[in-house]
Amino acid sequence: MKKKKFQFTYTVAEDSSALAAEDAALLQQARKTTRRAYAPYSRFSVACAAKLANGRTVVGSNQENASYPVGICAERALLATVGTQYSDEPILTLAVAYHSHTGNSNRPISPCGMCRQALSEYEKRTGSPIRLLLSGMEGPVYIIDTIKDLLPLAFGNDDLGIRG
Ligand SMILES: [Zn+2]
Repeated sequence: MKKKKFQFTYTVAEDSSALAAEDAALLQQARKTTRRAYAPYSRFSVACAAKLANGRTVVGSNQENASYPVGICAERALLATVGTQYSDEPILTLAVAYHSHTGNSNRPISPCGMCRQALSEYEKRTGSPIRLLLSGMEGPVYIIDTIKDLLPLAFGNDDLGIRG
């Protein structure tokens, strides 16, 4: 037997002013899109903005439902749009922001487990890493190079014996 270790390195920017202009603009778009969230139950508006390899930007926001499990996270709402409108177009960078209506919105959040799985599938599908910018409405920004870092030992098509 042997022990194995997983670790990853990510960058922390003090705030969005430390980002490259293009990243700051993408994060700003995610922050602005939190207004489009439909989150009457959690009062936690999440939004994301993706810069695609073709130069387009796509946004998504969480869309809740009175039947709670029917609701969808911002990241998967975005992936559905990207997959539909720009199938197989790589996502270069995905900015995720949130506005809590009951608390602070000044520290980064990261995608939930289900969204990590969905993002992992899209990364594999396009063969291109998705770089993440994670933040609130203000404060620090985490920069993560690939969704692989957030989902070690990910389950995927290889495990099913299916090639994508
Ligand atoms: Zn999620």
